[in-house]
Amino acid sequence: MLISNKAKQTIDACRFCWMCRHICPIGNATGQERETARARALALSLVERGAAKLEDVADNVYECALCGACTKECATGWDPILFTKEVRREIAMEGLLPKYIETMLDNLDATGNAYGVKSLNAKLKKAIASASEKTDTLLFLGQDARTKAPTYAIEAIELLQKAGVKFTVLENEPNSGWVYDTLVGATDETKEVMKKAVETLNEYKTVIALDPVDAKTFLREYKEWGLGLKAKVETFTSVAAGLLKKLKPKKSEHKLSFQDPAQLARDLEETEPAREILNACGENCEMLLHGKDTMFGGNLLMNEYMPDTMAKVAADRWVNFEATDAQTLVCASPSEYEVLKMHKPAGKKIVTVAGLLLDACK
Ligand code: SF4
Ligand code: SF4
Repeated sequence: MLISNKAKQTIDACRFCWMCRHICPIGNATGQERETARARALALSLVERGAAKLEDVADNVYECALCGACTKECATGWDPILFTKEVRREIAMEGLLPKYIETMLDNLDATGNAYGVKSLNAKLKKAIASASEKTDTLLFLGQDARTKAPTYAIEAIELLQKAGVKFTVLENEPNSGWVYDTLVGATDETKEVMKKAVETLNEYKTVIALDPVDAKTFLREYKEWGLGLKAKVETFTSVAAGLLKKLKPKKSEHKLSFQDPAQLARDLEETEPAREILNACGENCEMLLHGKDTMFGGNLLMNEYMPDTMAKVAADRWVNFEATDAQTLVCASPSEYEVLKMHKPAGKKIVTVAGLLLDACK
């Protein structure tokens, strides 16, 4: 395989020790050994040695959520995400992409999003129009909020407007490139998409990334690949926490629990702003596996090709939630919010960070 020496060393460094097995949300949800980092490293080491074919492991390579739980737990300190993404690139280069990945790439070419959604939700379009004036600050909604989680985007726009923030939302927002990076890794096409986004982002002094996956892409991949992003990037949660004094939410006895998105808690090491918000609105009850130890609750991209697995992943996270005293689950990722909402147990409530604050400010 044409992957970096570091990725090869990473595959070879795996001791197949099982330490990461219990922590993989996909492996846990399905009970399938093949879906853990350990088994994937083993399969890829067979490909490296010519004992298996790349096409035989292609599906397996797309069963990883890139959530980083195994990276955090790995006994030898290596990063399975590194080889998973490089092997995805190799699969693309060799023309071995599974059909469901090709479909999403075709959708991206045709509509700018992996789901093939052709037009904006009417209410979201209206909300975007209300913030279309050019300012120094761009609220970047991201693919998932724009196409599959419009309420998430509308609430974020309403909250910033309520707090008197001057900001702009684009009707035609560029793709940040994270979807390409997730589906085919760091190809030339991925970097071209990102460079185009940088041109737009640099028209602003500040970019507020609503989706943690965009924030992580702007702050990590753009920087690592020297794409020249000059705008200051802030996460929506950190901006919202900074507005608490202005918003003055009413604190209630409502018990809340926060679903830390992996990109915020692990990649960007941001865990506190959301907790400041929860504590300002009610009582924060932590779930098992929170903060940097967070457990992935599902995502919309994988829901396109592994809906049954995403249902199990979300159900597992709801089990963690139900073990707390909380009545309401608060989400900071549009993607996780939508998948967890699809599989919400009866009688439980799920809200967005912005929705929680809007409610507490009524
Ligand atoms: S990144 Fe997450 S989903 Fe992928 S193997 Fe590691 S723990 Fe499992
Ligand atoms: S903990 Fe690390 S070394 Fe052990 S099986 Fe998992 S990925 Fe391999």
